[in-house]
Amino acid sequence: AKAPADQRLAVIGLGRFGSSLANELTQRGWDVLGIDTDDRLVQKHSDGLAHAAVADCTDPEVLRQLGVHEFTSAVVAIGTDIEASILVTSNLLEAEVPNIWAKAISRQHGQILERLGAHHVVLPEYEMGERVAHLVTGRMLDFIEFDDDFALVKTVAPELVTGVPLGRSQVRSKYGVTVVGIKRPGEDFTYATAETVIEKGDVIIVTGKTHAVETFADLS
Ligand code: ADP
Repeated sequence: AKAPADQRLAVIGLGRFGSSLANELTQRGWDVLGIDTDDRLVQKHSDGLAHAAVADCTDPEVLRQLGVHEFTSAVVAIGTDIEASILVTSNLLEAEVPNIWAKAISRQHGQILERLGAHHVVLPEYEMGERVAHLVTGRMLDFIEFDDDFALVKTVAPELVTGVPLGRSQVRSKYGVTVVGIKRPGEDFTYATAETVIEKGDVIIVTGKTHAVETFADLS
């Protein structure tokens, strides 16, 4: 089956980041074109992807020949070679690709890509570092922070909130967080309702302002 037009993605740079992204979206049914200057990398990933090409994307004409301007999304997965990352991003902007994602390896690199006009800039190592910091310091099992200071956390339930139905526990008014899901040992996750009673040892999913969620997860 052919993927819809909005599920066509060009990935430039098939290093660790680019190739895992390309493979993941291929598995989800996306039509992915992977490009790299390194023919060994292209060879390695050509079986897994819908299309793969050896090309230097700092040349706008090369991008045009590969039809990248017809893609709705493109990811610049070049880190180490900052000059190439900037040139390729600029070429994609020039080609008016509607969704350009770019990976940066430093905050300065990220700032340049943002000023250039990349629609989304990701800093995988910094973002993962911050996330792991949350996991290391507390009892959080998973932590995702969204823009605007809002987070979603998987954590072992603090004992303070066990034994009463959530509707009466005042978790929201006291701690500013909302419990959205709950998992008993050995069971699957289910939605939390006002009647749900959290027991010792339950794992819960909590949302709220980052600071509130952090404070809540540190309660005992
Ligand atoms: P990672 O850490 O994810 O492996 P790298 O920055 O090391 O990221 O890898 C980037 C990849 O992008 C490399 O495989 C490199 O060959 C490729 N690349 C670099 N410059 C270009 C370019 N101008 N056109 C296409 N691919 C490029």
